[in-house]
Amino acid sequence: MQVTADMRPLDVLADFPAIPSGWAYLDTAATAQKPRPVIDAITRGYGETYATVHRGVYQRSADMTLAYEAARARAAKFLGAGSADEIVFVRGATEGINLVAQSWAVSQLRAGDRILLSQLEHHSNIVPWQLAAERIGAHIDVLPLTEDQRIDLDAMAEMLTSRHRLVALAHVSNVTGSVLDARRAAELAHGVGAKLLLDGCQAVPRMPVDVGALDCDFYVFSGHKLYGPTGVGVLWGRAELLDAMPPWQGGGSMIDKVSFERTTYAPPPGRFEAGTPHIVGALGLHAAIDYVEAIGLDRIDAHEAALVAETRARLSEINSVRLFGPENSAGIVSFGVEGVHPHDIATILDESRVAIRAGHHCAQPLMEALGVEATARASFGVYNSADDVAALVQGVERVTRIFG
Ligand code: PMP
Repeated sequence: MQVTADMRPLDVLADFPAIPSGWAYLDTAATAQKPRPVIDAITRGYGETYATVHRGVYQRSADMTLAYEAARARAAKFLGAGSADEIVFVRGATEGINLVAQSWAVSQLRAGDRILLSQLEHHSNIVPWQLAAERIGAHIDVLPLTEDQRIDLDAMAEMLTSRHRLVALAHVSNVTGSVLDARRAAELAHGVGAKLLLDGCQAVPRMPVDVGALDCDFYVFSGHKLYGPTGVGVLWGRAELLDAMPPWQGGGSMIDKVSFERTTYAPPPGRFEAGTPHIVGALGLHAAIDYVEAIGLDRIDAHEAALVAETRARLSEINSVRLFGPENSAGIVSFGVEGVHPHDIATILDESRVAIRAGHHCAQPLMEALGVEATARASFGVYNSADDVAALVQGVERVTRIFG
């Protein structure tokens, strides 16, 4: 295979101890492998510097509080947030969306208000809104997709009404890799006075993100898809929105003063972080952000775009392969092989030491729109190279031979 400039490996594979030689890990959209600096930050956090945050008066705890808050400031800078106080640490994107649904939506929306989602959303950007809508008496509308499975923003322009209070969309689809024109989505949403939440799970690991430039109102992502630990993620919200939001979970740390007569709450972000947080997770996330920024998100974007282009070109040469999503998808290629269940594709690829995901990818409404039960999905990360694409294509050719 001809190796183009951008398909040269980023030369970081040696940073990833859990990727053995000859194993093509193509499931980064599910979760990314961890580089040594992230593993070291976690080991140091538990093995050398561990203590609680925000409470202890002793030096170790004060130092850990500084480190935890430094991670928050790092996440703010990473997203282009106005202030670290706009960064709420959560368990992941799922929890971030549930927080906005249960706190912002339940307190701000009224019966009859409308929420706009799209057909390609992950279940975690659907079900929290259904739960909130049920409590509020609000309605959910669903944006259709274009022929190449992007969110149809022309349809959005037609569907939006003054009853729409919130639009919640994936910045990058976890199934098709399609990239939202987030600025246009923000302009349309704001045009009717609605807020825009972006699910950035699949965007932050593969492209530069600046919430100011995108002009969204909430942004969420999970640490584990950004080469960081599981159990930690970020909700960014505009300061004035967070300020007006009630707590959604009660407990230690989120209060100002507690009495049985009347409890008052801490300002954001503490108001939304009840209980002892995932302290070391935040340190790991800090290291992960440093790691991807040291490589450069523009470089990662270009690298993955080249791998996607090669994958799509090579797979489209195989007659029985059906490719989903737009040509210029970001880091993710979903496909099917005629007459073969995606689980069988993944099992046969596994025999060739190629790891892909097969299933509905927590996007059953999208599967319905595609007219399939499941897809096979290859997704790329910083450690992948043209060799991994070659292994994938050979594996798929083997699938077609086995199934005749
Ligand atoms: N949204 C998208 C687009 C995702 O890809 C995922 C993870 N597959 C999620 C939300 C949920 O992320 P988590 O399970 O880490 O909360």
